[in-house]
Amino acid sequence: MDKKYLIGNWKMYKTIEEATFFMQHLLPQLEAIDSGSLALCIAPAFVHLPAIRTLLNGSTFIQLAAQNCHHEPEGAFTGEVSAAMLADIGVGSVLIGHSERRVYQKEDHLLLGKKVKRVLEQGMQPFLCCGESLKDRRNGRHKAVVQQQIEESLDGITEIEKVGIAYEPVWAIGTGEVASLEVIEAMHSFIKEILWHQYGSKNVPILYGGSCNPQNAKAIFNCPNVAGGLIGGASLRVDDFMKIVTALLEQKDGTNCN
Ligand code: PEP
Repeated sequence: MDKKYLIGNWKMYKTIEEATFFMQHLLPQLEAIDSGSLALCIAPAFVHLPAIRTLLNGSTFIQLAAQNCHHEPEGAFTGEVSAAMLADIGVGSVLIGHSERRVYQKEDHLLLGKKVKRVLEQGMQPFLCCGESLKDRRNGRHKAVVQQQIEESLDGITEIEKVGIAYEPVWAIGTGEVASLEVIEAMHSFIKEILWHQYGSKNVPILYGGSCNPQNAKAIFNCPNVAGGLIGGASLRVDDFMKIVTALLEQKDGTNCN
């Protein structure tokens, strides 16, 4: 079975008390199941990363992920966090170019490309987020937009198999409006083609994100080119998140979306 990925993106939610409660309830449940084929990551706010590492107490069931990093190695950038700082405290992967950062922080493809390089230099796995707006989809530009996001942000990357992609249609993030299985599978196989033609690799995991929840997770994960999920809202509640973990573990190999 190919490796599967699940990343819980906590965004700017949870106090330290809430984060601690979550981990203390999640860990025993993970220990009770065989989650060996799964790379399970939690991406809390920066300030909670050290505390969560302490709670993990060496457990390998969950890896630490970060929601962002700066594009320069170090320097006079007040309020920023470097990739090296994240690697130093045991972070294993970093989300790059989440649509909320593209929109609110105006991050563009070239800046994101620098971030991808910084993360790789530090031995961590970047998960490059891509996805079209509703307007792009209505105009039929969804493929062109996603292709540009990927090609410009991965330009010059040689370690392509250390990268992950998260396809997140902007109109499906936090809206409750999940993309149809046909839309998901069509875009995932398109991204796979891009990665094959531009970088010669068929081994880059492509995760789906956007209103994934315990009810729809199983069907989404059964799409052949979906290697897992990037989960926002439903990663904030232990029970929901565990149901999504279970759905991914139950995923069948080589099935069609159904
Ligand atoms: C996300 O923020 O990456 C995300 C997919 O959010 P949600 O699951 O809430 O749509």
